[in-house]
Amino acid sequence: MEITVVGSGTVVPRLSRRQSCVAVETGKETLLFDLGSGAVRGMLHAGLDPFAVDRIFFTHFHPDHTVDIVPLLFALKYGADQARERPLALYGPEPFESFFGSITGAWGDWMLGDYPMQTHELPRACPSPLDLPDLSVSWTPAEHRPESIAYRLEGQNGAFVYTGDTEYAERVVEIARGAHTLLIECSLPDDTPAPGHLTPSGVARIASAAGVQRVVLTHIYPQADALDLVQEVGRGFDGEVIVARDGTLLTV
Ligand SMILES: [Zn+2]
Ligand SMILES: [Zn+2]
Repeated sequence: MEITVVGSGTVVPRLSRRQSCVAVETGKETLLFDLGSGAVRGMLHAGLDPFAVDRIFFTHFHPDHTVDIVPLLFALKYGADQARERPLALYGPEPFESFFGSITGAWGDWMLGDYPMQTHELPRACPSPLDLPDLSVSWTPAEHRPESIAYRLEGQNGAFVYTGDTEYAERVVEIARGAHTLLIECSLPDDTPAPGHLTPSGVARIASAAGVQRVVLTHIYPQADALDLVQEVGRGFDGEVIVARDGTLLTV
């Protein structure tokens, strides 16, 4: 799978980092994980076609992970050269149906489009992985918001795990176990932590305990950007460490 970090930023408005969004091209489908502010234009910057999306997954409902669902659905309805016919599937943690219903209630029924659209509310604990063309998707509760979940994509060449926002949690270690690539939030420095988020030492602790091959840091606040994050995480993790930028391309 080809993974593009479309947005590596946070709630802090910055030109250098858009809000959270990750695109995964499986070879058969295009999946998006989170859609923060700037994600749609970020896809264009990264050479991705926003109209090519087949499935969208959300880790939690904070605006910096969800708001660009509005411009994306508006574009799918009115901004394409040809009317969309291919299906679109949306996935989010409980209570996703209520969350999405609030958005469609506020913006109007046009959000549902004329193409087949399905919404899937994921129970907090994954009963069994979703089998998609080319890969399977599982998830686990993360430690951030009551609804927060982290995702694992199991492909032919290994696993890709995306934490969304979280602080240290054994469940996150478990879902990351043995992964080829762990895309993990690294919000703040160790000397100014915040509840519900990770710092470099917490990232290293999860990555080491899970035995992943490489970690890719995302969701980076300006205070953390001022550090040498590769060195900071490297103090407690022996594998490869990459600091994501908007547009970073990864292959698993
Ligand atoms: Zn966030
Ligand atoms: Zn959040």
